[in-house]
Amino acid sequence: MKPIAVCATVLLSMLAQPAAWCAQLDVKAALLRVDASLAKEQGSLLALYADLHAHPELAFAETRTAALLAAQMRSAGFEVTQGVGGTGLVAVLRNGSGPLVMVRTELDGLPMQEQSDLPFASRTRTQYNGADTFTAHTCAHDMHMSIWVGTARAMLAQRSNWRGTLMFIAQPAEERVAGAKAMLADRLFERFGKPDYGFALHTMPGAYDEVLWRAGAMTSNGSALNVTFLGRGGHGSDPSTTIDPVMMASRFVVDLQSVVSREKDPAAFGVVSIGAIQGGSAGNIIPDQVALRGTVRSQSDAVHERLQQGVTRTAQAVAAMAGAPPPQVSFSVGTRSVMNDPQLTARTAALFNQAFGDKSVQLSSAWSAGEDYTEFQAAGVPSFFFGLGIYEPKRMAAARAGGEQVPANHSPQFIPVAEPTLRTGVRAMSLALLGVMGTAR
Ligand SMILES: [Zn+2]
Ligand SMILES: [Zn+2]
Repeated sequence: MKPIAVCATVLLSMLAQPAAWCAQLDVKAALLRVDASLAKEQGSLLALYADLHAHPELAFAETRTAALLAAQMRSAGFEVTQGVGGTGLVAVLRNGSGPLVMVRTELDGLPMQEQSDLPFASRTRTQYNGADTFTAHTCAHDMHMSIWVGTARAMLAQRSNWRGTLMFIAQPAEERVAGAKAMLADRLFERFGKPDYGFALHTMPGAYDEVLWRAGAMTSNGSALNVTFLGRGGHGSDPSTTIDPVMMASRFVVDLQSVVSREKDPAAFGVVSIGAIQGGSAGNIIPDQVALRGTVRSQSDAVHERLQQGVTRTAQAVAAMAGAPPPQVSFSVGTRSVMNDPQLTARTAALFNQAFGDKSVQLSSAWSAGEDYTEFQAAGVPSFFFGLGIYEPKRMAAARAGGEQVPANHSPQFIPVAEPTLRTGVRAMSLALLGVMGTAR
């Protein structure tokens, strides 16, 4: 797309705002500058990636990771403050008058073992919920961090081409949906200023040369679901003297899917999944109670409310049918959809379209994952949150054509092809920043 066409397209969706910025970011020239930086920095960025990948740390315990990033950003000339919201850090670079722009990465890994034959695969062991396990970067936050550092360097290398203040933040505990809140509670915006714009990216199934985005909801509402059926235990040979909570749990797991298929608007995204059932100790004992844990996902508050009501009603009905006491049903606070700002989306997507052509993919529906980036938006930062593919394009094309599916986030095999993914991420994030901070040259 030609710059003039981009401006026209974007202007149509931004009639309210005269587009001074349209005065031209030369996308081609900007990409050449980013690529020159990448050519110089790629080796050390990939070394940083390998180091982060080999040493994942769990939520709020990311001390080594944070120290590593702090050192990187300090040596790049950023002013770094550590210990914001626990292990979080903030790196600021002032470069003349202009907008204050935030770029977020996450620090934490997951309590699981990766399945890869990488020479730098994680062998780090940990204890989680009382059990021995490993830690792994199977949500690719290690890649996000490497792109974050790479983008900082790419921006530094072209300081004369933009104005404003960069505020790079690394948040703890994204996986526990707690780190963004912790940083805000530590007065992030009071201390460092409230950003005019915010950007974040997340790796997802897609090709490593693709950026994936959409206006409006980009991620999903999510809440955790806990249900406990209370029965009356007894001998398995004499069920008529019991109230069987295993039976109730089984019926509930099946019946609750009718809430999704019969009560929710079929065109609206909504999911209820039960991921854990716990109850009983032996084959011939009917237990007193059975507990279930699950997740509810949607992309609108109305759908979410409807699903939660339906789940509650189904659990109560199942218990009533068995002549059991009412079940305990609770939903814990989860994530709300990340909502991309319409104007910032139009502006940035136009640059992506121009830079990446048909590899700039507009998603037809939001990503089913949840994210706590929402907290920064709720605090008033207009934001653009986009996806980044990680797989070999041919492999991805085969999966989309119905072939072998690719591993999703949190799979033990969710591991990016490092070099092209890093490059696409740094190019895309740098362009997004230049879109709001670039000076016309
Ligand atoms: Zn994750
Ligand atoms: Zn993640």
